[in-house]
Amino acid sequence: MFGKGIKLFKLFGFEVKVDLSWIFIAVLVSWSLAIGYFPTHYKGLSTQTYWLMGIAGALGLFLSIIFHEMSHSLVARRFGIPMKGITLFIFGGVSEMGEEPTSAKAEFAMAIMGPASSVFLALVCYGIFLLGVRSSWPTPTNGIAQYLAWINGLLAVFNLLPAFPLDGGRVLRAILWGLKRNFRWATRISSGVGSAFGFLMIVLGLFNVLRGDFIGGIWWFLIGMFLQSSAKMSYQQLVLRKALEGEVVRRFMVADPTTVEPSTSVQQLVEDYIYKHHLKFFPVVDSDRLVGCVSTKQVQATPRQEWGQKTVGDLATACSAENTIRPQADALEALSKMSRTGSSRLIVVEGNHVVGMITLKDMLKFLSLKVELDEK
Ligand SMILES: [Zn+2]
Repeated sequence: MFGKGIKLFKLFGFEVKVDLSWIFIAVLVSWSLAIGYFPTHYKGLSTQTYWLMGIAGALGLFLSIIFHEMSHSLVARRFGIPMKGITLFIFGGVSEMGEEPTSAKAEFAMAIMGPASSVFLALVCYGIFLLGVRSSWPTPTNGIAQYLAWINGLLAVFNLLPAFPLDGGRVLRAILWGLKRNFRWATRISSGVGSAFGFLMIVLGLFNVLRGDFIGGIWWFLIGMFLQSSAKMSYQQLVLRKALEGEVVRRFMVADPTTVEPSTSVQQLVEDYIYKHHLKFFPVVDSDRLVGCVSTKQVQATPRQEWGQKTVGDLATACSAENTIRPQADALEALSKMSRTGSSRLIVVEGNHVVGMITLKDMLKFLSLKVELDEK
């Protein structure tokens, strides 16, 4: 979900990136502050002032989220969990962990630090607001400080919901993990709770839409959907990761796969390979060397009357890094390649030689057996 982001800067060695969806949010936040929030709370200012306040508010929110995520990352680093960086996206920020936390204690400290930092910011901003009111600072300054106090408080409360993968859900997982010493069980329970919270928000959103609060309802609905899917996904990923951990491609591959020679005619390819083996693509091998790949796509693009004269060598294209993998590569890498390209088979290549074929089916078979045996 968090693919490409725009790199902004580096802070304490962590790369801060912003997802394109955040730009949409920045505009939406500025707009709703300038049109709704500030005119309601601070009457009698000019439209231009409201817009400046709106933009400053959105910028403040942006910095607050970075502060929140940065505090997670700094604690994680103290516990030796490698952090890849921080990405801001539509529903806030994510600190990208390179690995799962190593202990319940590490996870607890890391998770609680986020809401704690937001509470801290809320208090600081509220202090500034009080000081501003007492020293009669300009209304816009006070308004922005008050808004930031409120939004940071809200961030803390929302993140403390025990809905995994929100911070509160991670706290819950850490507690369960510490109690029962079973990481998978703790993840299953807390992501179940997260998913239930997501469902509740979806229902609440629909209820609000029916009541006439369309914008608010849609927000609840979207956040609920996001929570539900990420709760489910984090558990599935964990199960996958645990099961495939340390497994190499060689273990799943079928050795000596069916290959085609470049001199084979297209007609033969269809009759003797595609129809016979029910496969969509084949490695093209010339005297033991991989020279290309041929798939039904290229056959489709060739007029039927040419199938007799044209050979596989004419049709074959170079095999890309997307459909080949090394035998000593990690099985997780194969899986992520497959999910990225939508292809369910990869050619296992060593140097220039085809050594095997790895399919999603074989990996899933292994996974389901392993999960069954590991189930407690
Ligand atoms: Zn957080």
